Amino acid sequence: MISVFGSANMDLVAYVSEAPGRGETVTGHRFRTIPGGKGANQAIAAARAGVRVAFLGAVGDDGFGAELRDTLSEAGVDVRGLRQVPGPSGIAHIVVDDAGGNSIIVVPGANGTVAGPSGDDLATIAASEALLLQLELPMAAVVAAAEAGSVAGVPVVLTPAPAQPLPDELLDAVTLIVPNEHEAAAITGATAPEAALDALLERVEEAVITLGSEGALYGSRSGERVRVPAVEVKAVDTTAAGDTFVGALAVARAERLPMADALRFASTAAALSVQREGASTSMPTRWEIEDFLT
Ligand code: ADP
Repeated sequence: MISVFGSANMDLVAYVSEAPGRGETVTGHRFRTIPGGKGANQAIAAARAGVRVAFLGAVGDDGFGAELRDTLSEAGVDVRGLRQVPGPSGIAHIVVDDAGGNSIIVVPGANGTVAGPSGDDLATIAASEALLLQLELPMAAVVAAAEAGSVAGVPVVLTPAPAQPLPDELLDAVTLIVPNEHEAAAITGATAPEAALDALLERVEEAVITLGSEGALYGSRSGERVRVPAVEVKAVDTTAAGDTFVGALAVARAERLPMADALRFASTAAALSVQREGASTSMPTRWEIEDFLT
């Protein structure tokens, strides 16, 4: 089982030819609400990729909260650790342009009320093969969960997004950090991926920097380095490519695949997801990933 302690947001997605600049109004082609949030995305990606997943987090008492819970359940995710709190659920306001690029505003809502893992959450984390964390919950809550994972000897996988300063007590508890290239540059101050990887490995045991259509770069303190190309596909919507990558990577590692194979599994899952719209709606099943790989 994999635990995800993280955010659930309703994504409010507007599709436009070109995203508006400041003070500009543009007419979009279409609008959709799609369940998302980095935590929920990673949970659904991992569940679809073939593992039992427990989601630990919070939604509000609005219609979005009910829909988020249903979506996670329908994907096979255990939602007993998903709390309902008074007030609005988290939302993400997303603009997707015709080139498949996106820009995103997140309003935390219920996610912002999560103070740390509950007693039940701690038991779930301790019983897991991996704990997946992102930075859409309050930092103190993320640190508390990471420390709980570390104390229990559970590998802690951190997606450091949205980018922000990372306290030492967080990184001390993290086993594997998976930033995209922008986050890696923001954390380390190094723009070249190889240099950013070296800087990350001074603080964490293992790191993967995802490089969008350029693939991904892995390194460990033991000196292993693996570079995987992206699978060539036509990108329709790259929302949640990174979350799909991390969810699938966690599954492959829980199954003890060698790192090169685990990265290929994750890249394939992510490439399949960018060919479809949305976050939770775009993640491939185990069957689709394996079918592509063979
Ligand atoms: P994020 O979504 O967090 O910004 P990236 O853009 O780096 O992260 O994408 C994560 C992974 O998704 C990449 O390492 C790659 O495997 C896959 N991916 C992203 N964009 C594409 C693309 N255009 N074609 C194929 N694979 C892609």
